[in-house]
Amino acid sequence: MTTAHDELHAWDRQHVWHAFTQMAEYTPFIVERAHGCTLFDTHDQPYLDGVSSLWCNVHGHNHPRINQAIRDQLDQVSHVTSLGASNPTTIRLARRLVERSPAELQHVFFASDGAAAVEVALKIAFQYWQQRTDPKPEKTRYLAFQQAYHGDTLGSVSVGGVDRFHNMFRPLLFDVVRAPIPDRHHLPKGVTPQSANDFYLQELEALLKTHHQQLAAVVIEPLIQAAAGMVFHPEGFYREVRNLTRRFDVLLIADEVAVGWGKTGTLFASEQEQVCPDLLCLGKGLAGGYLPLSATLATTPLWEAFLGSHADSRTFYHGHTFSGNPLAAAAALATLDVFDEEETLRHIPEKARLLSDYLAPLASHPHVGDIRQRGLITAIELVRDREQGEPFVWSERRGQRVCDFALSRGVWLRPLGDVVVVMPPLAIQPDELQQIADAVRDGIDHATSCLTD
Ligand SMILES: *Cc1c(COP(=O)(O)O)cnc(C)c1O
Repeated sequence: MTTAHDELHAWDRQHVWHAFTQMAEYTPFIVERAHGCTLFDTHDQPYLDGVSSLWCNVHGHNHPRINQAIRDQLDQVSHVTSLGASNPTTIRLARRLVERSPAELQHVFFASDGAAAVEVALKIAFQYWQQRTDPKPEKTRYLAFQQAYHGDTLGSVSVGGVDRFHNMFRPLLFDVVRAPIPDRHHLPKGVTPQSANDFYLQELEALLKTHHQQLAAVVIEPLIQAAAGMVFHPEGFYREVRNLTRRFDVLLIADEVAVGWGKTGTLFASEQEQVCPDLLCLGKGLAGGYLPLSATLATTPLWEAFLGSHADSRTFYHGHTFSGNPLAAAAALATLDVFDEEETLRHIPEKARLLSDYLAPLASHPHVGDIRQRGLITAIELVRDREQGEPFVWSERRGQRVCDFALSRGVWLRPLGDVVVVMPPLAIQPDELQQIADAVRDGIDHATSCLTD
């Protein structure tokens, strides 16, 4: 007899084309409901959400406060266009974002996805140089980092630098100035941990010196390049990037879609190095991970370059049908309220310490090359040979094998190649952290015990 579960399983494989997934090999993982940090499949089996539903859930699933906010908004109005119209909830959210973000960011452009937030930032930067009081129309290019990930639309892929994802589309993309990835773990020959920051900054400075007259903006994921494999930048790098962009008169676009909203321990990653970018992109956790919502925050000098009479044609001709959707905005406002009510940020250092303690035994594991953590973002890098830093053969999918094992232990994770990522909702509890860490440790033993297959 075919059960409802079997049917869904078959239809999922047949009809749903999943993101970043080889459909020929896809095994359905169907989440029917969720509560707190636990997902339940169609057999009502529980799984801890070890990567916050792909880096976006903040206060847990089915949070009564966020659910109620969405229900209340549902009874008011579900959608109002952002094209020449507004609604109270979206206005209040813009105000709250401006109050909470670095001081100079005063204007908010909403969209639904992180990629769109980056597209908006790229286009605002471009148009700004064309029409500001002292225009510099030759500033039409961007500088971005190797292995950067900014989303999957063509503009965001152009500034992206993950070859495995992006090379296929190169003929469709615009050319960018590419700086080396400021990776503090994998250092170029002759560079030491002490000299790493200076080394990467000199490389960047040389590129800015050569290209600044054509550069509209530098695009960066502050502190951590997430999709690159949770690559951590050297301490202080971001602050110096801000100084360099000021010196060379180039705008700074901070893509906090992954690292924003508390993941690194502060609401904005930019706070940690006291940076105010010219444009700041938010997404993923912005509406608590409940509904699609993203935002691009801009400073007043940028905003002013777009003001004028209709006939001046200075308008930003860009928009998305669901920009600033009030249901998503209600979820975002409630998410901010919960940050305050539950003092979410205050509890992060303690949770981060627990997670780090639970994972500490891995530090001497023969197949762990590095463990890095900031706030609740944790990455464990698997290697074939720890002494030589030799990676596993990519096609062996060791990272995926760890996650497959963890799933059998009731922990859902998704790796980045051979980097095992643990990035739970900020609401995760100590016993849940322990369960995730146990599954990761056993999973790593299991997935690396045999080197011949
Ligand atoms: C996920 C991500 C994006 C893209 O966001 P979407 O909502 O998937 O379009 C952009 N930048 C960074 C740093 C991300 O991690």
